[in-house]
Amino acid sequence: MTAVLPDQRHFAAFHEAGHAVLGYFTYPRARIREVFIAGGPPLSGSPLPDPNGEWRGRAEFSFDVPRNGDPLLAFADMMQTVAGEMAERNAGGCPSGTELQNDQAEFADQTQAAVGSLYLPPSLANYRASSQTLEDAARHLAVQVLIAYPRAVQAIVDALLGAPYRRWRVLSPGYGTGYCHRITGRVAMDLMRSYS
Ligand SMILES: [Zn+2]
Repeated sequence: MTAVLPDQRHFAAFHEAGHAVLGYFTYPRARIREVFIAGGPPLSGSPLPDPNGEWRGRAEFSFDVPRNGDPLLAFADMMQTVAGEMAERNAGGCPSGTELQNDQAEFADQTQAAVGSLYLPPSLANYRASSQTLEDAARHLAVQVLIAYPRAVQAIVDALLGAPYRRWRVLSPGYGTGYCHRITGRVAMDLMRSYS
């Protein structure tokens, strides 16, 4: 066996595994639809992208129940979003690039949605203070879940990197067709079950 040094492709796999594991363990009544990572231009690169180029991906969920501004779901969104960056960091990566920017913008929007969906007594209804508290709590709890299920994270990483890099039409809205490593929601959830 040769030791493989982690590259951007590995870190992207950890990033998406972080999203997948957090969503699986914190969303009530949700299913993973798919998890994928793609190198080069969004889903249109050559079949053999540079392992150290820019990689991005998606862990896509579907919900069995209407979301209806549920504050717990809004908070679970925050945890799920921040977990990508954290899982990547835990693996020794240094998150950067388009996906990180998107995640951070999404995290800020989700924080506003969570604050807006909470009933805050007048003494606590200071927006800046309450959003900072929620952000800290989401980060803290996301780390705890990642620490609790390291084998689930690793299993998703191994499955993603072991999947062929081929052309797919992905299910996630807005991505279309292109080359990626992809595992189905069924495979991802079976792995979670066996490692949880
Ligand atoms: Zn992400």
